[in-house]
Amino acid sequence: MKRVRLGNTNIEVTPVGLGVLTIGYTQLDLPLDEGAALVRYAYDQGIRLFDTAQYYETYPYIREAFMDLDCSRDNPDRPIIASKSLVLTYEEMEEAIQEALRELDLDYIDIFKLHEVRQDPDWESRAGAWQCLVDYKARGVIGAIGVSTHHIDVAERMASVPECDIVFPLINYAGLGIRKGAEPGTAEEMAEAIRHCLDAGKGVFAMKAFGGGNLSGHYRQALDYVQSLGVHSIMVGMGNEEEIDRLVSYAEGTLPGDYVPDISGKRIHIDQGDCEGCGNCIDRCPNKAIFRNENGLAQVDGDVCLTCGYCAPVCPVRAIIMW
Ligand code: SF4
Ligand code: SF4
Repeated sequence: MKRVRLGNTNIEVTPVGLGVLTIGYTQLDLPLDEGAALVRYAYDQGIRLFDTAQYYETYPYIREAFMDLDCSRDNPDRPIIASKSLVLTYEEMEEAIQEALRELDLDYIDIFKLHEVRQDPDWESRAGAWQCLVDYKARGVIGAIGVSTHHIDVAERMASVPECDIVFPLINYAGLGIRKGAEPGTAEEMAEAIRHCLDAGKGVFAMKAFGGGNLSGHYRQALDYVQSLGVHSIMVGMGNEEEIDRLVSYAEGTLPGDYVPDISGKRIHIDQGDCEGCGNCIDRCPNKAIFRNENGLAQVDGDVCLTCGYCAPVCPVRAIIMW
């Protein structure tokens, strides 16, 4: 598969990448050997960009998958690993970086980001964590730093932050999950912010091209749209070899033009018998997809949910399930 340089960095990635969230405990919860085998399968098929996060708890899969590979920065064929953390302070970010290095068994990580930066106040409040990333990059422990975000205003702002190398925005043709401040935003607005980031030399890889599965029935349209924006890579969460084969085939231009996937996808459900109405999931959902129903219990709006799985871990009674 061809390689693309990530903006002004010296990191080269494939035009599609594996989002490792899917195999972890918030979604498929694959056994270690199965998840690691899937990550390795993606590498063996040519994929070279792997995005994970402290929150996903998926480092063991990646370590296991690549334990026999030379993952040092001197190897141009190494898997490029990108991680990120939700933390606020310098000390917390330092711990997050050390945890990633330790659990991935690396002494260097190509990309580390602030995870899920929301409106500007959120960016400001995480200045300590950002400074830590800046310092670790200067020390040569991290290759490139950046943010992941669902927010147009954050993506727009990153275009003019000189230290920011990488922007990982949410984008899909239907605008699902895109935020602008406290309100929903549009695909056109995010596309414009992405253009500004690309013009500024940022490395851009995109998430949620399929809107968390809601656009999977329009496989080509969804990927073609995001690719047309000029992003360097599209990250896709995949849970089996067939999905990896399909994405590789798309990236290599061999996917049949009339390809239509099976869209009997998974959905998030809240067991009304178990839910205790604590509200944790409502606060956690970045897409405002959970509401309190007439019984005071949490319920998912399937039209808004992006099946990111972020809500499941905060439920004290494991009432949130995906099937
Ligand atoms: S309801 Fe849960 S899975 Fe759906 S968007 Fe919100 S956090 Fe993600
Ligand atoms: S976190 Fe769990 S118990 Fe609390 S409201 Fe959500 S589903 Fe119900």
